[in-house]
Amino acid sequence: MRILITGGAGFIGSHLSEYLLDRGDEVWVIDDLSTGKLENIQHLRDNPGFHLAVETIMNETVMDRLVSETDVIYHLAAAVGVELIVHSPVATIERNILGTDIVLRLANRYLSKVLITSTSEVYGKSDQVPFKEDADRVLGPTTKSRWSYSSSKAIDEFLALAYHKERKLETVIMRLFNTVGPRQIGRYGMVIPRMVGQALEGKPITVYGDGEQYRCFTYVGDVVRAAVGLMETPDAVGQVFNIGNDIGISISGLAKKIKEMAGSSSEIVYIPYEQAYEEGFEDMRIRIPDLSKANQIIGYEPTVQLDQILEKVIRHFKEHKDFA
Ligand code: UDP
Repeated sequence: MRILITGGAGFIGSHLSEYLLDRGDEVWVIDDLSTGKLENIQHLRDNPGFHLAVETIMNETVMDRLVSETDVIYHLAAAVGVELIVHSPVATIERNILGTDIVLRLANRYLSKVLITSTSEVYGKSDQVPFKEDADRVLGPTTKSRWSYSSSKAIDEFLALAYHKERKLETVIMRLFNTVGPRQIGRYGMVIPRMVGQALEGKPITVYGDGEQYRCFTYVGDVVRAAVGLMETPDAVGQVFNIGNDIGISISGLAKKIKEMAGSSSEIVYIPYEQAYEEGFEDMRIRIPDLSKANQIIGYEPTVQLDQILEKVIRHFKEHKDFA
């Protein structure tokens, strides 16, 4: 297969590139390195099946050529990370909506199958856990930029479903819950690389709010296998799937676990949300996926649990010493 991965130098994209190359696929990556990194794909560059374009997906000329030369698209390029989203709302909306519009338009031109990567953020602050794919969404006002991320990704989903319904384009939507593992960095907000970095550097481990918010963390390897499984299952076309882990932890519990596993003497500090992000910031209290739909169609089950994930992340950071 000739595969195009948008955002292929990012955290999830680089793991996906590696997985597909290992299987013998030919992989084209487009990444503008805004949040992706060359280091993530350095080890792939000698592979004759690997091709890289350092370019934005908004460059339609380059995208047209890439889509015309490949069979399937894994669309991962997006603005991600709560911190990035709060501080760069224009780029978030533009990249997520206009970028996906380009991908779907070109996929439709060349009849490529597309995976759209969405997010559990689309459920907003609903507390009706576990979230089922057809559950109602509960969002805050437009004056709070976090909800623009949720809405931008929901527009991506609407567009992918519309292309399928109206133009018979083969689209699959994967809603990712908190995905973690080696190569993820903390700069854009993600809690695990951030806290592991703080613990290893002996800096205070920062818990936002009261720490009672609850999250379930999925290992990137489970996500990669699910993405490929869904793309290779004809019945998945035109549908939305949660991909995550349904076992979770409170964020203060996570901080304690990281401190212990890293053998750190860092203190755990509590920081109000308005100081961590911005005035009036709204967080999700609880986020748990219902995984039955993905389980039924591809037998999806998370295979790596939090302790093993943290071991891998701690080892990665100790080896690479790159906490940014
Ligand atoms: N968080 C935290 N300390 C940090 C970074 C994040 O307590 O240094 C919290 C954040 O407020 C959220 C949870 O950890 O409640 C997960 O944050 P992340 O940005 O990783 O993902 P989210 O679930 O918000 O999309």
